[in-house]
Amino acid sequence: MFIVFIGPPGVGKGTQANMLVEKYPMVKISTGDLLRESIRDKSVLGERAKGFMERGELVPDALVIDLVNEKVNSTAASGKSYIFDGFPRTIEQAKELDNLLESRSSKISVAVDFSMDEEERIERLSGRRMCPSCQRTYHIKFAKPKNDLTCDACNIPLVQRSDDDESVIRQRSSVYWDLTRPLLDFYRKRNLLQTIDASRNIDLVFSDLDRFIQKIKP
Ligand SMILES: [Zn+2]
Repeated sequence: MFIVFIGPPGVGKGTQANMLVEKYPMVKISTGDLLRESIRDKSVLGERAKGFMERGELVPDALVIDLVNEKVNSTAASGKSYIFDGFPRTIEQAKELDNLLESRSSKISVAVDFSMDEEERIERLSGRRMCPSCQRTYHIKFAKPKNDLTCDACNIPLVQRSDDDESVIRQRSSVYWDLTRPLLDFYRKRNLLQTIDASRNIDLVFSDLDRFIQKIKP
């Protein structure tokens, strides 16, 4: 079973993927993790990816696909299902993924669209604060520290990651949607798209997700 998760940062995809991995024999594949892993292991693909990243360039689709292929090959014997978290991000990647799966006589089982109001998502991301010492995360509205913006454990001031700055989030969002919106249609046309209201609490989102998974189980 191959499951695709579609959605921008802040919609809780990663959390839901981790919950599925705990419940079912599944492997989560996120390209960010794959890139970090391959660079850490100094694999051939990792060394190539590192070159692009060091020059501040995007890692090309073909290289990302090679990494995914390598991961699927190295874990295929486990018989587990796969969750692609935030991949594919473009139509080109989606087509390449289809080809890769087809070569294994397989195909995407379901594409889950984690839907959330854009302003709500930006509020969630831009309200995040982190303890620079223990890395614990807080939220100025949803997960406040006990004392005014200091870490409960370390008692030092929390910081905002530069990625979480509202203007950075908005700029990234528009790039994200330009690239990724066509994907929703791509999967909808194949009757594979399931939309989840990701603004609800974690357990409600998970129960929807679980239902989709149960339906496609053989
Ligand atoms: Zn701390």
